[in-house]
Amino acid sequence: MASSVERIPRLSFVLPAYGEADNLPKLLPRLLAQAELCDELEIIVVDDHSHDRTFAVLKEWGAKDPRIKALRLARNSGSHMAILCGLSAATGDVAVVLAADGQDPPEFTAELLDAWRKGHHVVWAVRSAREGETATTRLFSRLYYATMNRWSSVRLPPAGADFLLLDRRVVKALVEIPERNTSLLALITWLGFSQTELPYVKEARASGRSKWTFRKKVRLAIDSLLGFSTAPLRLATSVGLCFGGAGFLYAGALFVNKVSGGALFGDTSTEGWNALMIVVLVSSGMTMTMLGVVGEYLWRALEEVRGRPRFLAEDEVNIVLDQAPRASSRPLLARSSDTKASGVGA
Ligand code: UDP
Ligand code: MG
Repeated sequence: MASSVERIPRLSFVLPAYGEADNLPKLLPRLLAQAELCDELEIIVVDDHSHDRTFAVLKEWGAKDPRIKALRLARNSGSHMAILCGLSAATGDVAVVLAADGQDPPEFTAELLDAWRKGHHVVWAVRSAREGETATTRLFSRLYYATMNRWSSVRLPPAGADFLLLDRRVVKALVEIPERNTSLLALITWLGFSQTELPYVKEARASGRSKWTFRKKVRLAIDSLLGFSTAPLRLATSVGLCFGGAGFLYAGALFVNKVSGGALFGDTSTEGWNALMIVVLVSSGMTMTMLGVVGEYLWRALEEVRGRPRFLAEDEVNIVLDQAPRASSRPLLARSSDTKASGVGA
């Protein structure tokens, strides 16, 4: 440890969990063992509406140890929203976010804290190696990070990261941003503050499969690109201009051909059907695509205006729901009684 006084923080672990009933009993003791690093420890697991015994496991463990806290989301909202929900309930000086499948070693927290003590507000644990992953997964991941770094306003670590430490200040800033359909990790990068990276080895999954299906990954990639870049809109404008320009040039050339008695293309009076079809098909196809791009931005704007809560919790362990949200004036967490009486989100 290079500098400053040894600060012993209150530490909050925040874990999103979707179908991790088999992994949590192995991971929780490893998390509890980190208590020696801090003054006070809390472990907040957000069950992303799993269909297995994840929440039952959390209830059992929570009954034995009050430091284990849990929230169950009313619907599957994706790991980024689950993390955000956990962060909005976290009370520590620092929050360490990690996966609930045991791929991110909690023992690495000591090193993350060292970097925090040196004054960094965000410490990314960046995968130096990923065990048990296919070449396609790695390729897709690299493509995603390369596209984001090239075309968007944020810079993500080239190898990606979803294990990180956040200072209380960053957590506060983050939970107050009301944005949805976004990438939490891109948002953190965008926030600024003092950020640094530390390499770690991402372990293979102890059990179960990755819940990040190809569809979810594509969705996240589109959300991140549209959320942090206007490049697709500019591309739409440029392509539209090119097509319009080409149309005018072609019309001009046809006119010159006509008045010059066929000097350019010869007699075109009987030709043109094929050319016409190509122009119609290509230009209408491009127009539809461009409208789609505009639509993607538009529905995101609509979602923001609607102001629906980004996540709702339907049950809790060792957390008082009404106290949990600090994020905004909107009700983020439904009370258990409301849930039963009127349906979640009513
Ligand atoms: N996860 C979640 N909701 C989902 C998908 C995943 O909360 O809809 C959690 C999952 O339980 C795990 C973390 O997010 O703790 C990372 O997911 P996963 O291990 O499936 O992703 P990968 O390791 O393949 O990036
Ligand atoms: Mg995983």
